[in-house]
Amino acid sequence: MKTAIVTSDTSENHLTGDGHPEQPKRVRSIINVLKKKKDLIWEKPSIVPEKILKLTHTEDYIQNLKNSFPQKGIKFLDGDTVVSPGSKEAVFDAAGSTIRAIDGIENKRFKNAFCVVRPPGHHAEKNKAMGFCCLSNAGIATNYLIDKYNYKKIACVDFDVHWGNGNYNVLYDNKRSLYISTHQYPFYPGGGTENDKGKYNNSLNIPLPAGTNSEQYFNAYDRVIDRLIDYKPDFLIFSAGFDAHKNDPLAQFELSSEDFYEITKRTLKATNKFTNGKVLSVLEGGYDLNALAESAFNHVKALSETE
Ligand SMILES: [Zn+2]
Repeated sequence: MKTAIVTSDTSENHLTGDGHPEQPKRVRSIINVLKKKKDLIWEKPSIVPEKILKLTHTEDYIQNLKNSFPQKGIKFLDGDTVVSPGSKEAVFDAAGSTIRAIDGIENKRFKNAFCVVRPPGHHAEKNKAMGFCCLSNAGIATNYLIDKYNYKKIACVDFDVHWGNGNYNVLYDNKRSLYISTHQYPFYPGGGTENDKGKYNNSLNIPLPAGTNSEQYFNAYDRVIDRLIDYKPDFLIFSAGFDAHKNDPLAQFELSSEDFYEITKRTLKATNKFTNGKVLSVLEGGYDLNALAESAFNHVKALSETE
């Protein structure tokens, strides 16, 4: 079976204003390189069931969010989270891409999937938008896997250079999930220390200093692998941010584009025997357009090579 790319043109209608790093060209730059790869299946998002939204975010927040999209211009939901008239569709399509991905994997139409979407999701908490993010796409995927398909051990590996405070918050008391993050620390958004273990010891956070290079990163990543082998996940989610790249303007890790192939490959090698290769990946950060496109391509290459 093949790897699917789930994406929608609506992502380009989510406008964040001139000079904002989370810009429409991000998705376009990834799609342009993936189009050169001929063994992919292309899919569109589906609808997020209301029940799943409410399992992930508070009802008040969902209502507020739905009412917050402006008729024209742009609006700030927090200091750096911006929405425009087209954002509503983009936000719900980003989350809905994970629904399409999961259904396609379950129906054996493709083996795994990468959702190339924006806005990203891993900073959005149960009751607030934050850090360019409106909905926890990985949290929504986790709740859908549990509710619709009765998965019991869902691992979410978040290799974005920022701590996914939103994923952590949304999955904090979810007994059927394990949230793992490697990230620069101390750094935005704060938190993500070794002491943040979730309510049921269902989270592993690995803070790393600015300047972390490939060798140092992979030494630390061995702990991710060990924990995954110990956990034996029945489904794997990547919160796939590519801003740990050395060229990224927002952070100070020193990874190369090829390192994202290696991260993906090692993770799949450790988990495929438990997940039967069932993997959903969703785009988070990554703000240098060339680095983002190359890194995402390498991530997909590793996904597509797995049996
Ligand atoms: Zn990030």
